[in-house]
Amino acid sequence: MLADYAIIGAGPSGLAMARALQKVGVSVDGYEAAADVGGLWDISNPRSTMYESAHLISSRTTTEFAEFPMNSTVDYPGHRTLKQYFDDYADAFSLRELFTFNARVTSVTRTEDGLWDLTAVTPDGEITRTYRGVILANGTLAEPNIPLFQGEFSGELMHTSEYKSPSQLSDRRVLIIGAGNSGCDIAVDAVHHAASIDMSVRRGYYFVPRYLFGRPSDTLNQGKPLPRPMKQFIDTRLLRAFTGDPVKFGFPKPNYKIYESHPIVNTLILNHLGQGDLRIRADIDHFDGSTVHFVDGSSDDYDTVLLATGYTLDYPMVPREYLHWNGAAPSLFLNIFAPDFNGLYVMGMVEASGLGWQGRYEQAALIAAYLQAEQHEPDQAAAFRSRVAHQPWPDVTAGYRYLGLDRMSYYVNKDAYRSAVHDETTRLVQGASLTAAVR
Ligand SMILES: Cc1cc2nc3c(=O)[nH]c(=O)nc-3n(C[C@H](O)[C@H](O)[C@H](O)COP(=O)(O)OP(=O)(O)OC[C@H]3O[C@@H](n4cnc5c(N)ncnc54)[C@H](O)[C@@H]3O)c2cc1C
Repeated sequence: MLADYAIIGAGPSGLAMARALQKVGVSVDGYEAAADVGGLWDISNPRSTMYESAHLISSRTTTEFAEFPMNSTVDYPGHRTLKQYFDDYADAFSLRELFTFNARVTSVTRTEDGLWDLTAVTPDGEITRTYRGVILANGTLAEPNIPLFQGEFSGELMHTSEYKSPSQLSDRRVLIIGAGNSGCDIAVDAVHHAASIDMSVRRGYYFVPRYLFGRPSDTLNQGKPLPRPMKQFIDTRLLRAFTGDPVKFGFPKPNYKIYESHPIVNTLILNHLGQGDLRIRADIDHFDGSTVHFVDGSSDDYDTVLLATGYTLDYPMVPREYLHWNGAAPSLFLNIFAPDFNGLYVMGMVEASGLGWQGRYEQAALIAAYLQAEQHEPDQAAAFRSRVAHQPWPDVTAGYRYLGLDRMSYYVNKDAYRSAVHDETTRLVQGASLTAAVR
């Protein structure tokens, strides 16, 4: 017998969704293109954008699922430990049984009676099955964002999604474009292998150390968020005291305040700049053969240009209108619910400093509460839909004025977001005969 709902993806978000639906007794079939669970933390997943040196940048206790603490004492485990964690999570709750692996969903189309036909290519050939709804958990960091540049580069041009190990950069003159978390990780990797490393940046960044006062920095102030102006005031000074002024290392001065863009959790990059292992360059003007010209009039020759230019959201299996795209991201209630409740739900389309997998689980718990209400408490479900139909939606920015960049279009403040998700889940289950999947 077919389940009522389908999940696409068995990464952290898809697993969290399966677990939350399992808890409330809503039937579900999962489809995963790769051979196993773990999403991008499974470096053997062909869609994974993980690299050999990658570790968590949020700390273990702020990231793990609350009901399933990690069997590790390390604060920032590496990707292999995390793959094992998702294996253990799936085993502990028998989640693998809910998924078909090596099953790539190619389309999700609406039927005349408002259900969804899901088509997948599986080891047994192409299948099409019908569901009441589909939860998209296919990840946000898989489709490379490739900017357009003037001119042509004749050397090797690659995106961080193709980077696995520093040996790929051995003895090469490397230019990394972009200083996000992946760009900085790779620069730090590459200093011991490449012939030279330059990093081209458009703007300044805030660099957060992994440890402050001997504790993982994201564990300070947990549960008692400071008001935005105070947090920005204190943390700017704290960073200046601990890491110094990145301008002294060659970075431009940020033209925005701390937390208005995703911070870089990497201070090794500053150490290497201090040692002269790499150089910061200006934004790109144009390419000409193996020469890269920068907007400040300088130029240099390179063997490899590595685009650390991030990722773009992509839900290729679903016609765009069903996800209410607005610019670079779908416009969804709490980044989850299509406002017309067409039966599509999005998991994991959320970026925030320190949200972790528990934050994703809380999204799943809200979806589970709604789907359970639809089946057993139609009035509660209708009240939720009515709240969603009426703007304004909860403010999940906590007053931070995020940079108007594509990658910030689905960014939230973790405290404001978790509190809004928690409030909605509580309202849905309150006074009703529903099982809260909140924890
Ligand atoms: C280098 C790096 C470091 C990171 N560090 C952190 C960190 O420290 N803390 C943190 O919270 N987050 C971190 N992240 C973010 C990371 O995205 C999340 O931790 C998490 O993996 C998101 O889970 P997800 O399930 O939404 O997506 P993914 O992990 O991307 O999983 C999506 C799954 O969907 C499957 N899929 C895709 N398309 C289809 C299809 N058509 N049919 C079937 N299956 C499909 C994929 O194969 C994949 O298994 C990091 C990311 C990277 C790249």
